[in-house]
Amino acid sequence: MTKKTVGYVHLEWECPSCGTRNKGIDKMCRNCNAAQPDDVQFEQVAQETLIKDEKLIAQAKAGPDVHCPFCGTRNPSTADQCSQCLADLSEAKARQAGQVVGAHQKSAVPDVACSFCGSMNDGTALHCVQCGAALPKSNRPEPAQAAPQVKRATGMSKTTRFVLFGILGLVVIACITFIVLANRTEEVVGEVEGVSWEYSVQIEALTPVEDQAWRDQLADDADIVSCRQELRRTQQNPAPGAREVCGTPYTVDTGTGVGEVVQDCVYEVYDELCTYTELQWRDFDLVTLTGDDFSPEWPNPTLAQNQRFGEETETYEVYFNADGRSYTYRPDDFNEYTQFEDGSRWILEVNALNNVRSVTSDR
Ligand SMILES: [Zn+2]
Ligand SMILES: [Zn+2]
Ligand SMILES: [Zn+2]
Repeated sequence: MTKKTVGYVHLEWECPSCGTRNKGIDKMCRNCNAAQPDDVQFEQVAQETLIKDEKLIAQAKAGPDVHCPFCGTRNPSTADQCSQCLADLSEAKARQAGQVVGAHQKSAVPDVACSFCGSMNDGTALHCVQCGAALPKSNRPEPAQAAPQVKRATGMSKTTRFVLFGILGLVVIACITFIVLANRTEEVVGEVEGVSWEYSVQIEALTPVEDQAWRDQLADDADIVSCRQELRRTQQNPAPGAREVCGTPYTVDTGTGVGEVVQDCVYEVYDELCTYTELQWRDFDLVTLTGDDFSPEWPNPTLAQNQRFGEETETYEVYFNADGRSYTYRPDDFNEYTQFEDGSRWILEVNALNNVRSVTSDR
């Protein structure tokens, strides 16, 4: 984050002896002449306007004021001697600085009534124009109350929860039933009454596929379709061409009676995001041969240019008849498959879902 200075504004402080508000740059109370103690903080004025006086700004930039170790009087950081008692200020303690006193207050404040004579005064005034009495601080009108938010029901209704639990319960019961049925097996004797095989070969083709990348990350031969400006990253420091995004200005105590209005900014860096096409191997076609014998063949289609063979799959099935019921078994490979001659008899381990779990020769 980069801190940017918007400008400088007056602060004020309240005299702990008589309660009078004083300008930040005043080192003594205008009313009772008491020096501002080092533990009395500067506060924000009701309406802040940026200071044009270069000397004041230079003073604010010079560093926090110091308090005389002998009489307590506030002196500028640049002073060698106390303006009040002429004491040496080399050991003087600097005021605290850098605290945020509040969001920058630019907007006008309402007039304020003198509690002594009742006259109306400008909201930024410290003293009554009529009688000179100290004025209370103008009250900034409360920001308009945001419309009450309609609270959305976040939880589920009782009925919904009940139904969901019911569904979950049924799913669990179905799963358990399935596992039980799949594992409960019985043995039957079956006779082979048919076989089949299926051999498939995937054909892949080089296909143009669209993708996106930043221009500096594109391959040299990338086929660019179009490019546009997009936010690439947000960084703390300024950069050429970056978009500055700043937060709400706020006022910071410089320890001199003058506040610095600052803004925290980040920088959005934009760059060219390009859509391009690239050739990639993609599934194009699946070629399959099937048969019901023991001499399966792989399909051998002619490949076009920019095509190649992809994944190959082989599946085998054996059909049994056991006392009038049909069962299907899938051997793992060709070697196992060739054992199931037509009419041969096998002991089938069959589960309650009619799936053949294993076969053994009935000899
Ligand atoms: Zn006072
Ligand atoms: Zn002094
Ligand atoms: Zn008055």
